[in-house]
Amino acid sequence: MKFKPANKIQDLQYFGEFGGVNPSISDSSTYTFLSAKTMFDTFEGNADGCYLYSRHTSPSNLYLGEALAAMEGTETANVAATGMGAITPALLQLCGAGDHVVSSRTIYGGTYAFLKNFTPRMNIETTFVDITNLETVEAAINENTKVIFCEAVSNPLLEVADIKSLAEIAKKHNLKLLVDNTFSPLSISPAELGADVVLHSLTKFINGSSDTMGGVICGTQDFIDSLRSVNDGASMLLGSSMDSMRSASILKNMRTLHIRIKQHSKNAQYLAEQFEDLGLKTVYPGLVSHPSHEIFKSMMNEEYGFGGLLTLDVGSLDKANALMELMQNKNLGYLAVSLGFYKTLFSAPGSSTSSEIPEDEQKEMGLTDGLIRFSIGLDNDIERTFQTMKDCMVKVNILKPELQELV
Ligand SMILES: *Cc1c(COP(=O)(O)O)cnc(C)c1O
Repeated sequence: MKFKPANKIQDLQYFGEFGGVNPSISDSSTYTFLSAKTMFDTFEGNADGCYLYSRHTSPSNLYLGEALAAMEGTETANVAATGMGAITPALLQLCGAGDHVVSSRTIYGGTYAFLKNFTPRMNIETTFVDITNLETVEAAINENTKVIFCEAVSNPLLEVADIKSLAEIAKKHNLKLLVDNTFSPLSISPAELGADVVLHSLTKFINGSSDTMGGVICGTQDFIDSLRSVNDGASMLLGSSMDSMRSASILKNMRTLHIRIKQHSKNAQYLAEQFEDLGLKTVYPGLVSHPSHEIFKSMMNEEYGFGGLLTLDVGSLDKANALMELMQNKNLGYLAVSLGFYKTLFSAPGSSTSSEIPEDEQKEMGLTDGLIRFSIGLDNDIERTFQTMKDCMVKVNILKPELQELV
């Protein structure tokens, strides 16, 4: 049977303490115990349903975690204060001194910097590979490898990981496959395809209103329990726990995620097709010209489309900057990093979100100066948006003057 992630979210039923239609927010950092024995058992991890201290978990965080686990089809989940606050403990829980990671080279700049510059201090080494080349991935595995890390759809180049094949490689070598699914919630369900752990920055599409940060680790009960262990759990001990007020607000936003993703995808698909028709260098997984179009299609939950992210290469950083400034001026969106907002957001990743990646490596992976990453918004009239964008492109000499339609 087909996996239906939005149904899984819909089917959850939680009432508030007084029958409220929303679960009550746990406005407490600590919790009382009726008996001292229960407190001891809770610390030992043996008292189900008892809360200890909100860094460990809180009722509100559990509600959100369960909704995210339902969406990803994993046994359970642990929410975190940020996406990095989910990714870093997940990696550190699985890797210690002497261990090795095989990671996609086109990943979020922060994750890249963590693996490239930070974890070597703990004697964890990473080999960065072209994740779309399965032979290279397998060849990079050595006897110390513990983890294969990738993004389902990569930031910012929109490379698509063949999760089924990567899961087979991981299984064969007894490794864990960790997939950051921030760019493709609902569209791709990595755990259904064999991933062991699914990560998200909730800051992006899932919350969708650019008003808070958040992250989540979705996985097995055993793995999540290990992350929360008071003795050696990376989430518990590194402490990037989410605040209950925030998890309550993210849970409410999550209920419209399926509607938003459909609109983001519809708008992005439309713009990508129009841009490509104009002869612009457009990358969008929903275009037949995208090298991984077929793989994305084979993995996707169809109704959600190919996601809200697309990139345009306009030739030079100067042109990219001029275009972005003009588009902001015309209120087509904001010149800002991040993604998944109701307004279109655009930035030049080479000089912003991926600036952690050295210039020569950026070149090698195809991250050019003139690249603009668009997170397409929820615009109701995307045709109007396109016409105005086209005019902006004419004004900054990306398109020829003949293409100008509006004055
Ligand atoms: C933003 C982002 C992150 C980091 O999330 P934060 O919430 O900013 O900590 C990780 N991975 C991807 C793909 C992202 O886009």
